[in-house]
Amino acid sequence: MEEGIFQKIIRGAIPCHKIFEDEHTFAFLDIAPVTPGHTLVVPKTRFENIFDIPEGEWLALMKTVHFLAPRIHEALGAAGMNIGMNNGPAAGQAVPHAHVHIMPRFSGDGLALWHGRAYAEGEAEEVAGNIRKTIGG
Ligand code: AMP
Repeated sequence: MEEGIFQKIIRGAIPCHKIFEDEHTFAFLDIAPVTPGHTLVVPKTRFENIFDIPEGEWLALMKTVHFLAPRIHEALGAAGMNIGMNNGPAAGQAVPHAHVHIMPRFSGDGLALWHGRAYAEGEAEEVAGNIRKTIGG
């Protein structure tokens, strides 16, 4: 597989504003932030997204997110924070290297990340039933 943009960033071939790295993960500022401090956390080994990342790599990713989130929040005096991940083109994933978005929120920043809707009659039961059937719950 051809080297991807995040792999180039990790090895220093493309510049970034690095925030943190450990054995398994690397974190840097998003080049097009939704708010100041918007940070991407990526596994150093390239996996595409949540659907192919092994559990150990996922846990390492979550450990770094858990470490960074409160520190970024404090450093920037943020009022809140969204943590997000786009998985697959239909979900808005543009870079096929798994990454978690840490998005500090500030009062009045105007971001609206999603818009909910009500379930139709019987729809929630059907959806939940399908999921439970698949996971064996
Ligand atoms: P996604 O849509 O979840 O795949 O997010 C990809 C993110 O990568 C976007 O928010 C981009 O702004 C960000 N991005 C793309 N290229 C770079 C880069 N060279 N340095 C930092 N962030 C980048």
